Amino acid sequence: MKIPNGQQIIEEFEKWSPKFLAMEGDPIGLHVGTLNKKVERVLVTLDVNEQVVDEAIEKGAGLIIAHHPPIYRPMKNLQTDFPQGRMIEKLIKHDIAVYAAHTNLDVAKGGVNDLLAEALGLAETKVLVPTYEAELVKIAVFVPESHEEQVREALGKAGAGAIGDYEFCSYTLSGTGRFRPTDAAEPYIGEAGKMEVTAESKIEVVIRKYEKDSAIKAMIAAHPYEEVAYDVFTLENKEEAMGLGRVGTLPEEMSLEEFTELVKERLDVPAARVVGDLSKKVRKVAVLGGDGNKYIQAAKRSGADVYVTGDLYFHVAQDAEAMDLAVVDPGHHVEKIMIKGVVNHMSNQQNWQCEFLPSEVHTEPFRFK
Ligand SMILES: [Zn+2]
Repeated sequence: MKIPNGQQIIEEFEKWSPKFLAMEGDPIGLHVGTLNKKVERVLVTLDVNEQVVDEAIEKGAGLIIAHHPPIYRPMKNLQTDFPQGRMIEKLIKHDIAVYAAHTNLDVAKGGVNDLLAEALGLAETKVLVPTYEAELVKIAVFVPESHEEQVREALGKAGAGAIGDYEFCSYTLSGTGRFRPTDAAEPYIGEAGKMEVTAESKIEVVIRKYEKDSAIKAMIAAHPYEEVAYDVFTLENKEEAMGLGRVGTLPEEMSLEEFTELVKERLDVPAARVVGDLSKKVRKVAVLGGDGNKYIQAAKRSGADVYVTGDLYFHVAQDAEAMDLAVVDPGHHVEKIMIKGVVNHMSNQQNWQCEFLPSEVHTEPFRFK
């Protein structure tokens, strides 16, 4: 097994949580250090503070993947007698890079909001606030029957043929390929100057446009021909939008009070603030990790009985009450669910000699008394 470099790790991560899914102006990406080095251990954390940096040093991590960008506002100076300056000094002295995946990880399939929805046991989940619609293309490739399977496999592995909850979808037609190699060719089948007629299959797959280049590369690598014949078509149909928050249904109706207990237990918080009549029945749930004040109208419009989000403002809580939308605010720290999510996702990606470690530092600043 090979030790990857930081760049390879982030390339793999961004296949799942690409940068273009982030909201405008969100300072995501590499914050400190370099990715141009071997990385054997990656520490995954919600926040980066000095304790987390100490943990990275202790565990020998060369890279930290964090949800909250540690340099959120532009820095005017880097004074090492203040906490942020001291933290960055320590990171650089120990050659630890920090990479932040914030709203792109909120939006990503299987990211923060899907993890929260899943923890709450929501079914038939949909996106609450659409932010991105992927363009689709179709790839059609002509391949000798002997190599059909391996080309389909390479395309599927590169993300082609992912439709809703299905993957590796493709359509294959049989036909006849004709070609005449020139003197300069080194043909896999046939010989120079002679017309060749051979049984070929046409494989068609749909793929998100942004994944097309790596899929074509994988397809060509799996194809036996010197010159691979393929077409790429632009499609009018769009994929279901991606976005912030999720809305789904609980397996059964329950009171707001019972639901609050469920939130506390599943999201691992000792207390939650609640807006609404505790005896109100709830079944349809909207959830949005972090600060979801801006999306209270979207939650109401989605038909949700209750909205789970953090950092609720006093006046927004009053608005929710007035529009008869129950709210459960378990705080912002429930986003710590991403730690497990990223560790699980990244640990299963490649046959690397690289460990993904969950941070064990508690970064919740609030105490519940
Ligand atoms: Zn957050």
